[in-house]
Amino acid sequence: MSKVRVRFAPSPTGGLHLGGVRTVLYNYLFAKKHGGDFIVRVEDTDQSRFVEGAEEYIFDCLKWCGIEADESVVKGGAYAPYRQSERKDLYKAYAEKLVVDGHAYYAFDTPEEIEGMRVQRKAAGSGSLQYDAGIRMKMNNSLRLLPDETAALIASGKPYVIRIKVEDNSSVAFTDMIRGEITFDTNNVDDKVLVKADGMPTYHLAVVVDDFLMKITHAFRGEEWLPSAPVHILLWKHLFGIEHMPQWAHLPLILKPDGNGKLSKRDGDRLGFPVYAMDWTDPKTNEVTKGFKELGFLPEAFLNMLAMLGWNPGTEQEVFTMEEMMEAFSMDRVHKGGAKFDFEKAKWFNHQWLQKLSVVSYGLRVKAILEDKGIVITDDVYFEKVLDLVKERCTLLTDFYEQAGYFFKAPTTWDEAAVKPKWNESKNDFFISFIKKLKEEVDFSAEKIEIVFKELATEKNIKPGELQLPMRVMLVGAKFGPGVFEIATIIGKHATIERIERALDIFK
Ligand code: GLU
Repeated sequence: MSKVRVRFAPSPTGGLHLGGVRTVLYNYLFAKKHGGDFIVRVEDTDQSRFVEGAEEYIFDCLKWCGIEADESVVKGGAYAPYRQSERKDLYKAYAEKLVVDGHAYYAFDTPEEIEGMRVQRKAAGSGSLQYDAGIRMKMNNSLRLLPDETAALIASGKPYVIRIKVEDNSSVAFTDMIRGEITFDTNNVDDKVLVKADGMPTYHLAVVVDDFLMKITHAFRGEEWLPSAPVHILLWKHLFGIEHMPQWAHLPLILKPDGNGKLSKRDGDRLGFPVYAMDWTDPKTNEVTKGFKELGFLPEAFLNMLAMLGWNPGTEQEVFTMEEMMEAFSMDRVHKGGAKFDFEKAKWFNHQWLQKLSVVSYGLRVKAILEDKGIVITDDVYFEKVLDLVKERCTLLTDFYEQAGYFFKAPTTWDEAAVKPKWNESKNDFFISFIKKLKEEVDFSAEKIEIVFKELATEKNIKPGELQLPMRVMLVGAKFGPGVFEIATIIGKHATIERIERALDIFK
């Protein structure tokens, strides 16, 4: 077998949907499992959909995911250029060859004429409103015109497109790696445009030519591309020979949480979860769409979650490292049916992954988030103790600030409603005595602080349980967090005493 070569072929039209990242992942896993190459080719021939900054953003997302292409716009490679707009000139010759061979034709129809054709077909009750075998001989194209007329029109500079000529009453078939044998009736396939009036190829021509020239062996793409397959198969057949066509797999859709249709960016906005890999700012409107990265997802967890959206290893294992996924992944365990997106499950993966991280690696990732909030870590030993203590409570990287911010900054607000209704003179006295005892204490371990606290409570005849909540609010500002004596020992004697004193003033 020749060397496996797969490609991810994004069009730079906006944010990178999680379905796109899953396509990247399955391609990448397959390539790496088989010792092959993973190529990223930018399909930017549709100038009307081109969005400034989108290409760079896609590469940033791949970088965040830790996925590096073997060949790409950024990396270069033996088949460069990898941006289709830079390959513009090479496609047309293939389309011209199709014309010469009778598989394509020049079409001079204006957009108004095409619209007129649709209106007429609709009025006549035709089953198809498309430009196809049923109508092409009534249109303004080189099939209907005489060769001289066509040549004269071209010479006169009249804009034209090149369309594929799809034979009617026939069928085309291929074997999908996930879906098995799929057959299309050519009566449902229209004469797609291959070269546009501006000389740019359409996606259909460019994808086939480039998959051939770049020696792609397997092409995995979203299920939404399945309807385009018959045109691509015909192009393969007419241009390069069907035996050279890559093996295709059309990946299942990622569905809305309720299973009702494809998950869109709008669903994310509506239901409050991200759909893009990273924050995306629309350059025209400046609207920002949230990404998994900025929300606090680890790339490891994000990819792990995506791998399981449409594939299963056939075992109970759910948490996979990239190496484990490469080992376990196979196309025959990818499902046909759509996979429902479940944000709670996505968070579960992140929680699992956070627990798996070493304290050092966790710390590195949290530091930048803390710095944004004005907290600069100067004492790594202290930082690691805190990380270890609150890790369990964090689902997203960004949770760390909320769960542990008070270790780095004394509270400035307190949950007074939790304390004040039950606050009294004897509790106040207790804490005044407690401060005195703490000042004398040499051993400031959690165990020792707890003993001192409980003995004093017994002496003062107050249930320790009634004092622990106020003490927590004094140290944290709120009612959450790990054991209160553990917090005290970590922030240290000085800070503990200072925080109690400050809060006593507030609770008065
Ligand atoms: N350029 C297409 C896209 O934007 C690629 C489809 C394919 O992989 O063939 O998704």
